[in-house]
Amino acid sequence: MDVFDVIIVGAGVSGLVAAYELQKKGLNVKILEVANEPGGRMRSDFYSGFILDKGFHLFLNGLPEPKKVLDIDSLKLKTIYPGLLIKYGSGFNIVSNPLKKTFDLISMSIGENSTFWDKFKMGKLFNHIQNLSFEEIFEMPERSSLEFLTDYGFSNKLIQSFFKPLISTAFLENEMKTSCRLLHFNLKMLFTEDVSLPENGIGAIPKQLADKLLSNTIRYGAKVKHVEAHKVELSSGEMLYCKSVIMSCTPIDLEKIYPSFKNTTNCLSVSNIYFSAENPPVNKPIVMLNGEGKGIVNNVFVPSLVQPNYAPKGMHLVSVNITKPNDFDDYELVDQVLSELSDWFGVKVNDWRHLKTYHIKYAIPRKCNVDFKVYSQQIEPSIFLCGDYLSYGSLNAAIKSGKEVSKSVMSNWNEINKQENLFSKAI
Ligand SMILES: Cc1cc2nc3c(=O)[nH]c(=O)nc-3n(C[C@H](O)[C@H](O)[C@H](O)COP(=O)(O)OP(=O)(O)OC[C@H]3O[C@@H](n4cnc5c(N)ncnc54)[C@H](O)[C@@H]3O)c2cc1C
Repeated sequence: MDVFDVIIVGAGVSGLVAAYELQKKGLNVKILEVANEPGGRMRSDFYSGFILDKGFHLFLNGLPEPKKVLDIDSLKLKTIYPGLLIKYGSGFNIVSNPLKKTFDLISMSIGENSTFWDKFKMGKLFNHIQNLSFEEIFEMPERSSLEFLTDYGFSNKLIQSFFKPLISTAFLENEMKTSCRLLHFNLKMLFTEDVSLPENGIGAIPKQLADKLLSNTIRYGAKVKHVEAHKVELSSGEMLYCKSVIMSCTPIDLEKIYPSFKNTTNCLSVSNIYFSAENPPVNKPIVMLNGEGKGIVNNVFVPSLVQPNYAPKGMHLVSVNITKPNDFDDYELVDQVLSELSDWFGVKVNDWRHLKTYHIKYAIPRKCNVDFKVYSQQIEPSIFLCGDYLSYGSLNAAIKSGKEVSKSVMSNWNEINKQENLFSKAI
């Protein structure tokens, strides 16, 4: 019979980091993962020579946590264009990072989607945010992003045409209810640091974390059915025993395996449609936002313009994201998207070939308040929770959560070992 110090449910980023930290302390750790690869929500498919990230992800180089656990160089990151292209009126307006692309500031200054005061305030916000420390962001009064932007004095036109699709891209919600602390945190990353993609897809990040674990730490294809103190039951009926359990799955999955947990986190969904194209619709690796609010497309990006590995030689990969709820079936959705994008890029979109559509029901947690303090939770003397939903949906939060939960297990390890009696009874 297998008995472990710690069983971790889920090989997403938070579970992988927790396992790594605990193995460093000499504990005997097993991860049980229902899928056949690591990464959870941060995975890439390799499909007909294309790399399809399961949902549009970007790596924010300025995030503090990834640098502490990843070998960044071996990800072979390449940076995307430091700005955004806004589809507005008859064409596109560019909003670029003034710290990195002063030239484009000229075109930004004549953009139709903002007033003179908007441009002035945008400059003020750039300047303010780059000087804010993380601590100052975490302490600022909490309110919705919409309230913050309105109080800051931005025109409704700029809020609707720029901030709304930007928030929808980053936080997958369309009402701008996201915590203004989180908005500041992300804007700081966007304004002051590079944004990039790994050479071999976003899934290269958790793969690197999994490779740091001792061999056979992860058991794939292992669906956990039920968890209680010291005991984990698989859907096959097999029982595994341990001193402590960490559940690193989403709150939706958690409710199923640990019924006394009641989920209070709303999940946000997204659909990501991939097309192949012989010619990219733009020539820069820049994120394009729907600034008009018409239609269902939120943003478009061409990953192969930044990392050629994302498409076979001579081809390009186009990623289209949809965060608005809709009733289209998969065929209708492709038709609808192409019809909307012919207005953006012309009839050449009719030559694009649909590759795959991902509907990600639980993508990230909706976060109207974030305290940046709580990343893990102990719910029984020997049972712990980790995962991004405890703080905010991001690689940064998932890594921090894995680290915090391992600290929490270690600081309770003496107590956990004192439960030897209960543990022996369980086995
Ligand atoms: C579309 C999308 C876009 C995103 N964009 C970005 C971005 O640009 N930048 C960024 O930093 N972050 C982004 N994120 C967020 C980031 O991907 C997540 O915050 C992070 O991957 C969450 O990791 P986790 O460990 O908390 O959870 P998960 O990745 O959800 O891991 C949970 C694991 O538990 C497993 N599991 C569940 N139930 C069971 C069970 N019963 N038995 C066994 N195993 C089980 C799952 O298979 C999964 O592997 C995005 C997420 C999505 C979905």
